Amino acid sequence: MAKRDYYEVLGVPKDASERDIAKAYRRLAVKYHPDSNPGDENASRYFKEAAEAYEILSDPEKRARYDRFGHAGVEGHSSQFSSAEDIFAAFGDFFGGSIFGDLFGDQGANGRKRRRGNDIRVDVSLTLEEAARGVTKEIKFSRSVHCETCHGSGSRPGSQPQRCSQCNGRGRIVQSAGILSVQTTCPVCRGAGMRITDPCTDCRGQGFRKKDVTLSVDFPAGIDEGMRVRLSGEGEPGLDGGPNGDLYCFISVKRHRIFTRDGNHLIVELPITYTQAVLGACIEVPSLDGPKSLDIPRGTQSGEVFRLHGLGIRDPQAGRTGDLVVQVVIETPKKISPEQERLLRELAELEKTEVHPERKNFLERIRDYFTVSSDNE
Ligand SMILES: [Zn+2]
Ligand SMILES: [Zn+2]
Repeated sequence: MAKRDYYEVLGVPKDASERDIAKAYRRLAVKYHPDSNPGDENASRYFKEAAEAYEILSDPEKRARYDRFGHAGVEGHSSQFSSAEDIFAAFGDFFGGSIFGDLFGDQGANGRKRRRGNDIRVDVSLTLEEAARGVTKEIKFSRSVHCETCHGSGSRPGSQPQRCSQCNGRGRIVQSAGILSVQTTCPVCRGAGMRITDPCTDCRGQGFRKKDVTLSVDFPAGIDEGMRVRLSGEGEPGLDGGPNGDLYCFISVKRHRIFTRDGNHLIVELPITYTQAVLGACIEVPSLDGPKSLDIPRGTQSGEVFRLHGLGIRDPQAGRTGDLVVQVVIETPKKISPEQERLLRELAELEKTEVHPERKNFLERIRDYFTVSSDNE
């Protein structure tokens, strides 16, 4: 396939300025970035084509050769990028760490790159009651703050950072080995283009120090395990005028000794006696708002479920409240009094003649099972 003209690829005229070339490349790189075009092979091809064109046209020497001799003049001088990772390894600095950054907004006042601060993660453990009702908590964590001595510059007061002599302030260097030439981040200034020659003694040239921070954070009612609360701008400070990162509170909810949570419903397992199950009863059920009464009918089975509407947990988004789901379990007493024993034995005598329908059904099923099995033999 014939190679397209590099100026045509970037959509710029032959006399385009370096700035226009960079601007055109950034626009194409954002448009055809593989992250925004998953699985699109055409986009991936355009993305590589644009990177190759930019690599040649952004270098005055290669550009001059290309202008005179066309593709033949720069044969073997482009990096032949095979993946998006290669492209970012070569031009990563150009994007200021983020391809969606603003090309002309990424230079700070002192010529260093503006960078957004990192996000901070804090793990917060809540009780079920706190999660259900909502709570305000003091969150403690450690965060970098600008050094007051050097105002975050990293240079001893009165001194200035110097232009990096290794890369002449560009932040990138071109390494050539035979016909290959690769652009990498300058190892001396790590891409900043400036070097601190006389570091601030309080922060050892870092420009910031760690400080313990306490913040009061509101956790809304209904918040659940695995959710996150984001506090915009409360993360690490940005570098050279960049925006601050965010603070993320990752929520976990402690196990409760009575309730289990299922979405917005609360589940409670409640023991009842045999007589309550047989005769029916009004029983007391625990809820987050204190005890509630529940009528269970005569003939309640073990494992049967009753719902108390609106006594669950409020959904933080939809505003609806779930149910309290009560599962009753018939408890067999381990110890009984002589009087209870006498009555139960009396009951047992009666049951010999009186077979309950459910039980009768069960006995019939067993009989059928054995009959069928023996028929097959
Ligand atoms: Zn300092
Ligand atoms: Zn440098």
